[in-house]
Amino acid sequence: MEKEAASFNSDLPGGEEEEEEEEEGERSTEEPVVSLAEVLAENEELEKEARAVLGGSDHERCSYSQGAVKRQALYACSTCTPPGEEPAGICLACSYECHGTHKLFELYTKRNFLCDCGNNKFKNLQCKLLPEKATVNPTNKYNDNFYGLYCVCKRPYPDPDDEIPDEMIQCIVCEDWFHGRHLGAVPPDSGDFHEMVCQACMDRCPFLWAYAPQLAVSTVAKLTPAAEGGVEEEIKKENGVDHQIKAAKEKLTQSEPSTSSGSDCSATVKNEAPICKFQALKVKENRKKGTATFWPHNWRSKLCTCNECMKMYSELEVSFLTDECDTVLAYENKGTSDQEADRTDPLMDTLSNMNRVQQVELICEYNDLKTELTDYLRRFADEGTVVKREDIQQFFEEFQSRKRRRTDRMQYYCS
Ligand SMILES: [Zn+2]
Ligand SMILES: [Zn+2]
Ligand SMILES: [Zn+2]
Ligand SMILES: [Zn+2]
Ligand SMILES: [Zn+2]
Ligand SMILES: [Zn+2]
Repeated sequence: MEKEAASFNSDLPGGEEEEEEEEEGERSTEEPVVSLAEVLAENEELEKEARAVLGGSDHERCSYSQGAVKRQALYACSTCTPPGEEPAGICLACSYECHGTHKLFELYTKRNFLCDCGNNKFKNLQCKLLPEKATVNPTNKYNDNFYGLYCVCKRPYPDPDDEIPDEMIQCIVCEDWFHGRHLGAVPPDSGDFHEMVCQACMDRCPFLWAYAPQLAVSTVAKLTPAAEGGVEEEIKKENGVDHQIKAAKEKLTQSEPSTSSGSDCSATVKNEAPICKFQALKVKENRKKGTATFWPHNWRSKLCTCNECMKMYSELEVSFLTDECDTVLAYENKGTSDQEADRTDPLMDTLSNMNRVQQVELICEYNDLKTELTDYLRRFADEGTVVKREDIQQFFEEFQSRKRRRTDRMQYYCS
């Protein structure tokens, strides 16, 4: 998974095709323009994306039987529960089996959710996979995403009326999606942060402001002279940190776990120190408030886990923050590795069913094809021209006839 932070992307299943035509506006719009390498790369990317989002979810059994799943791909059905009706969420398996022909909203993944398919929220539908469900799921949390609306601006995604290219970023606390420009601060580059907490959730969880100066990724304010002065002042303040803050800072760096990928769920949070990290940090909350915050890998493991803090997390309903397995990245990695493990390569399958001579012939043929195709495509690259569908077609026709000629002469060798 290349993406560091969870981000919305129209490549996701259910999203709409990106309009690549626009970028190529100068070229003839009549002829489909494509390079084989592009097609292959795109397929691979789409497949990887889909595996990551759907991989950790069961696509055959309704997830309801497993209780509130830590994280799963979720859908809302606007055919069964249109705006005006009560919101409901359905699992991946139900989206295929019970709502296959309906209009579905992709909700990406949400935590601790029980599938609603066929319960009281559905007037005319019985779940085909698991009809025996409780009438309601009181622990489920719903927001406007279940009606296909996102962000503080309550817009659909993709938004037909929005011409500003802006990536959607998911808040890891409320799990709503936000336009980068509606977060109160310019988001850092997506590779520079791992998770985002939106403005409203920061207000609801003020303890995070105590951690922000040490842990959060600093955001770039708009470069007005006033803002620049502000930054300088803040740096000066940072240099004058008192004893207690220094000690707390050291504690934070010491407890850095050895994992770097953030995907290791076995990394538990250790807190042998008797003093509360949060109390130590609370002395000085100097970060400017009223914005979303952006956090790096492994920041969750640096939150204090003393009894007092754990109680506070639980009261604020954010206990998941101390759990590295709760991250979207952990979920996506699980999906990717699960499926890669049991994915069989059709080529290897075929090869293993062939005898030695057949294997050698096939591999020779494949090598021939690869070399010739590369040479062929290089010509286009050298000339700076675009490969069209007909060109690829022509290549395969010529390759076939060359192969036939070779076969006629009974020469099997690798060129
Ligand atoms: Zn279900
Ligand atoms: Zn439906
Ligand atoms: Zn169902
Ligand atoms: Zn917005
Ligand atoms: Zn939020
Ligand atoms: Zn504490």
